[in-house]
Amino acid sequence: ARVDNPYSGAKVYVNPEWSAKAAAEPGGSRISDQPTGVWLDRIATINGVNGGMGLRDHLDEALEQKGAGELVVQLVIYNLPGRDCAALASNGELGPTEIGRYKTEYIDPIAAILADPKYADLRIVTTVEIDSLPNLVTNTGSRPTATPQCDVMKANGNYVKGVGYALGKLGDVPNVYNYVDAGHHGWIGWDDNFGASANTFKEAATAEGATVNDVHGFITNTANYSALKEENFTINDAVNGTSVRQSKWVDWNRYVDELSFAQAFRSQLVSVGFDAGIGMLIDTSRNGWGGSARPAGPGALTSVDTYVDGGRYDRRIHVGNWCNQSGAGLGERPQAAPAAGIDAYVWMKPPGESDGASREIPNDEGKGFDRMCDPTYTGNARNNFNMSGALPDAPLSGHWFSAQFRQLMANAYPPL
Ligand code: BGC
Repeated sequence: ARVDNPYSGAKVYVNPEWSAKAAAEPGGSRISDQPTGVWLDRIATINGVNGGMGLRDHLDEALEQKGAGELVVQLVIYNLPGRDCAALASNGELGPTEIGRYKTEYIDPIAAILADPKYADLRIVTTVEIDSLPNLVTNTGSRPTATPQCDVMKANGNYVKGVGYALGKLGDVPNVYNYVDAGHHGWIGWDDNFGASANTFKEAATAEGATVNDVHGFITNTANYSALKEENFTINDAVNGTSVRQSKWVDWNRYVDELSFAQAFRSQLVSVGFDAGIGMLIDTSRNGWGGSARPAGPGALTSVDTYVDGGRYDRRIHVGNWCNQSGAGLGERPQAAPAAGIDAYVWMKPPGESDGASREIPNDEGKGFDRMCDPTYTGNARNNFNMSGALPDAPLSGHWFSAQFRQLMANAYPPL
């Protein structure tokens, strides 16, 4: 039987491959023993790519790390047909119609391995399909942010079907804990997106044989940079009678940080039919925003903009920026049950792995070039035509980006 919070009383798997890369960086041994997510980002990762570890190798190693206690392994299920429909940096190997291959060549083999009785005593956390369902809500139809690719995935239903199939199959394994990706506050926190996203998640969780009972919880901020807690202002503050919701940064959002968003969204999900016991994960791998530029107190009370911009920890140019953000730092170290409704803070995105290449790089992984990863790009509708804020000279998404890793350590908050 599943426990309420798989992270409680458990160690979490340290990926030896990530750990070795981290430890090889100057000062990297300060964090190389931290648990990070294992991304199954194409079919070949199940057996291992280029001589690297496959899924069974990770689970066997997890049994070693487990010893006599409890241990959580964190997997990222990330290979939907037409993946990453509003961006190019993480486009995948499967075309928009290849739902059949997703089921038989990706989900089925993963489910078969996880169901091996040898692994029955591991607590296997699966985070399911980052960014996919939120894209259906916000980047389709008549929205100015719509993309033709997301319209296709909405029309053909293959994101909803794929997520439903994954939840159902993986949920059949009694020691698997499914957490569905729920974007982040700077995406789903607006009124137009909040309820609609919860409804779409319910639709996916009841598609292709899945039920809401296949969902143990949701994860927010995966591979994103949204601050955990903005302590220098709240959504209820006003300056000279003007609400901070009218500041350029907040721009009418209902939430200013991930913790308040994740807790409120949990309630919304329960209200649409998810189990009252669901828990949230928050990816704190890169949302620390420490270092010398971290504001020491609230901004000036001249206007809502001086107040918010002077006080906010999140120093992105725009909250819609997502690629290799300059100035970011490691966030809270992974920990169980840190706040009400939150199962854990996790490092699902392995710090030091790129979000996307700064320029076009030919590859056989299906990865495209997204100009949101180019520091000279002046933006698109999804970041309200702001500069990208990306670090220069980044490699392909998922590849090691030493300069970013070093900056993340330098700007860690809490500091290392
Ligand atoms: C990439 C994946 C990678 C993951 C973790 C994603 O952006 O598309 O290939 O495994 O990040 O770094």
